Amino acid sequence: MVDGVVHDESVRRSGGVGLGLNISRRLTQLLRGELTFSSRLGEGSTFCLTMPTGCDAAELSRADGARRSLNGNHRVSLAGRHILVVEDNPDTRKFLTYLLEERGARVTTADEGSRAVESVQSAARRGEVIDLILMDMQMPVMDGYTATRALRAAGVRTRVVALTAHAMADDHQRCVEAGCDAYLSKPIVEDVFFETITGFLPGTSSAVAPQVRPWLEACKREFRASLPATRELLESAVRANDLGAVKTLAHRLRGMAGTMGLPELGRVAGACEDALRRDPGADLSIAAAELLRCLGDFGS
Ligand code: MN
Repeated sequence: MVDGVVHDESVRRSGGVGLGLNISRRLTQLLRGELTFSSRLGEGSTFCLTMPTGCDAAELSRADGARRSLNGNHRVSLAGRHILVVEDNPDTRKFLTYLLEERGARVTTADEGSRAVESVQSAARRGEVIDLILMDMQMPVMDGYTATRALRAAGVRTRVVALTAHAMADDHQRCVEAGCDAYLSKPIVEDVFFETITGFLPGTSSAVAPQVRPWLEACKREFRASLPATRELLESAVRANDLGAVKTLAHRLRGMAGTMGLPELGRVAGACEDALRRDPGADLSIAAAELLRCLGDFGS
């Protein structure tokens, strides 16, 4: 396969023609790198990609460390900042609220786009400043794209950071076209999150990094405790052949499970959602089987 020779036997066994590996190797060679692998039948394979980048890895990680300790995200203070969190998933809304309040921010929340627009307008009437808007893009009633366009049309200049659990290539472009200033994909990674939002909050000062975080442990416990109920909801949505409900449940798990320390669950939920997006006519009991199995691991 690596040589570009396709064997009937491998096609029959793997269900693919085996061109991917050959293409990957040629691309690597064009970049003056090397792709090697070792494989053991029935056990698995290890692929190794080596590429000359022209920089010293040790140097890079030192520079990264210095930046973090100088301007480290875990040392950020958001005291005096007012942030509007627009998010339909209650777990994510709660998580973001705690995360921002921990750094001293004042947080206002909205669970869909039209409430966010109302919130911004009423803050303006009261003469209050909103420093930043975190906008989930997939929401019922009014989604984040529509809400951001409405805010921009009304002349609101507040920076908007889009949050999305999609992994599609044109997603970033769509967010920018709607008027967002930046884009973060879920699950939320704290370092990336704070680096992005502080870029829009000039003059952000530093603070001692929080050491004890009981709220985070509580969020994780509650999330795990909610999984048997989520499994039941998913089961009945499958039984009722309710495509929308299955997609919504998978989407929520995809966006939150990683942040709650369950990356595998997030990955399986993402695969389920993607499969249903590609083929809305798919058999729901097949499309959701792996996710149900995964949720079953958390007891009832
Ligand atoms: Mn959402």
